[in-house]
Amino acid sequence: MLPARVCSLQERPGCGTMKFQGLRVMGNGVDKEWPAQLRDLWSGEIEWNSPMARWCTLQVGGPARAIAAPASREELQSLLGVLAQLGVCWRVIGRGSNLLVSDAGYEGVIVLLGRKFSAIETRPGRKAGEVMVRVEAGCSLMKLVNWCIDQGLQGLEFAAGIPGSVGGAVVMNAGAWGKEISDALLAVTFLRGSGEFVERAKDGLAFSYRHLKTEGMVVVAAEFLLQAGDRQAIDRRCGQMMRERKEKQPQGLANAGSFFKNPSGFPAAGKLIQDAGLKGIRVGGAQVSEVHANFLVNTGSATAQDFLDLMRLVQETVAERFGVRLEPEVHIL
Ligand SMILES: Cc1cc2nc3c(=O)[nH]c(=O)nc-3n(C[C@H](O)[C@H](O)[C@H](O)COP(=O)(O)OP(=O)(O)OC[C@H]3O[C@@H](n4cnc5c(N)ncnc54)[C@H](O)[C@@H]3O)c2cc1C
Repeated sequence: MLPARVCSLQERPGCGTMKFQGLRVMGNGVDKEWPAQLRDLWSGEIEWNSPMARWCTLQVGGPARAIAAPASREELQSLLGVLAQLGVCWRVIGRGSNLLVSDAGYEGVIVLLGRKFSAIETRPGRKAGEVMVRVEAGCSLMKLVNWCIDQGLQGLEFAAGIPGSVGGAVVMNAGAWGKEISDALLAVTFLRGSGEFVERAKDGLAFSYRHLKTEGMVVVAAEFLLQAGDRQAIDRRCGQMMRERKEKQPQGLANAGSFFKNPSGFPAAGKLIQDAGLKGIRVGGAQVSEVHANFLVNTGSATAQDFLDLMRLVQETVAERFGVRLEPEVHIL
């Protein structure tokens, strides 16, 4: 593997603005031979021209030029260094459960923090019964919740059934049943644009409803403070939450969970959409779920454009009817 490079990476993921070092520069600042150069400079796992529909729970989206899956912090660090050197756009994803990627795809590198990036470690907390749990960003929330059940640790039961990664959950400040991921967090480790790892305590982080201000940094790990509890009771609580999800949410149709954020000072987005008479409405293969109006579902043949058109139809109809414009919770790429 290549040694980690210390590069000045762009602060926000996006198209590079770096100066080139001996590469032929195209009009947009990126050498068209970058895929071959990336292959030469980075030895990790890459899948070329991979449809994003495969990597997102909405099951839509055109091809990403490359999907790179670093297996360690060092591989991630060297990958971002190489991408900065080549001036190539990149975006980190977890499980793609909150993402809508356009039909045109992504002309850059999707950095996938997946199963190889999913270690869980513990150390004793300061008080009796407290345990600090450090989890890598690619770990799935369900794996973490099941591990907590096995270990008899409580504090993350609300996350049972959220199909994201730990990194995605931190960035989204994912939540349910009145709790959010930030409630159980102690600290987050990031990889900075400059190539350094930094750890920030929760107090130093700007969390809000379904949002964390990351300043373009990559979440590489999160540390939670959990409490020892009764294993069977924790299992029962998680099971109950999973059952309620099954009753209230659409099953068997691809979706990204709640599509819109709940607007402050108004009824929940799902209620507004339902009261606007939009339950069941379709654009192409995308539909407002018959079960829960804040879920937009793929009936099987949807395109990303169908979802974008349906999103706008919902936003305009709700705005006309109730005077509030719904903001998507789903990130659009
Ligand atoms: C059936 C279903 C139910 C759901 N229920 C809930 C729910 O109850 N509550 C809730 O809050 N959400 C829910 N969601 C939405 C989603 O699961 C969460 O937002 C989840 O936390 C997203 O994680 P992910 O790994 O899939 O992120 P992705 O969709 O992969 O990415 C989301 C965003 O985070 C960025 N990102 C991801 N990983 C990193 C990283 N390591 N560093 C920096 N940026 C990163 C991506 O670039 C993107 O902008 C649901 C989704 C589905 C499909």
